[in-house]
Amino acid sequence: MKKKLISFIIPAYCEQDNLRPTYQAINSMMVENLPEYNWEIIFVDDGSSDNSVEFMMELCRQDKNCSVVELSRNFGKEIALSAGVDYAFGDLVICMDADLQHPPNQIPDMLSYWEEGYEVVEMVRSHSEREPWLRRTGSTIFYFILKLISSTEILAKTTDFRLLDRKVVQSLRQVEERQRMFRGIVDWLGFRKIRLNFIAPPR
Ligand code: UDP
Ligand code: MG
Repeated sequence: MKKKLISFIIPAYCEQDNLRPTYQAINSMMVENLPEYNWEIIFVDDGSSDNSVEFMMELCRQDKNCSVVELSRNFGKEIALSAGVDYAFGDLVICMDADLQHPPNQIPDMLSYWEEGYEVVEMVRSHSEREPWLRRTGSTIFYFILKLISSTEILAKTTDFRLLDRKVVQSLRQVEERQRMFRGIVDWLGFRKIRLNFIAPPR
């Protein structure tokens, strides 16, 4: 049977020191635990001012499964994720941050729900350390206002660490909003969804 293809989408802004560890963590998870899948890793450079692009290119030279989407300036993570998803060939996409706060050890669980028929696997975060007061308060206010003005429920602790079936990706490509919140649009699209909890390590 033909192996299914996973597209990892990694948006990165000034992550030159984190790119290789992130790549290695994904690669060893796939090689050691999930050889029944093919995979590609699409790095999106979101206008970094450090040498992130050069580090990405180096990874591409070493591993044909890697590719780079280079944005012309810093557009923000929401646009960077969307740009990466536009170039994905996979049967499914997994979006992950470039700083190892989205741990690859969650990938097998995410895939097993996809194999069961879930089209969106949404990862819900708790932190291994207590978040700073200002950040917690800011986040609570943000989601309170969002709940008032939005008809789509977006939970406070959900993240962009997500698995999306190709069907979801195809729908996402038809959404043309430029001022976007990536996970808000995914929630709005619907599809069969499950939420899993994970612990986010510190950056
Ligand atoms: N990121 C990006 N563009 C930006 C800011 C961040 O692509 O303008 C990337 C960043 O490199 C990381 C991910 O988005 O891979 C999450 O960013 P960060 O770790 O700063 O966010 P947090 O963990 O605080 O949610
Ligand atoms: Mg982070």
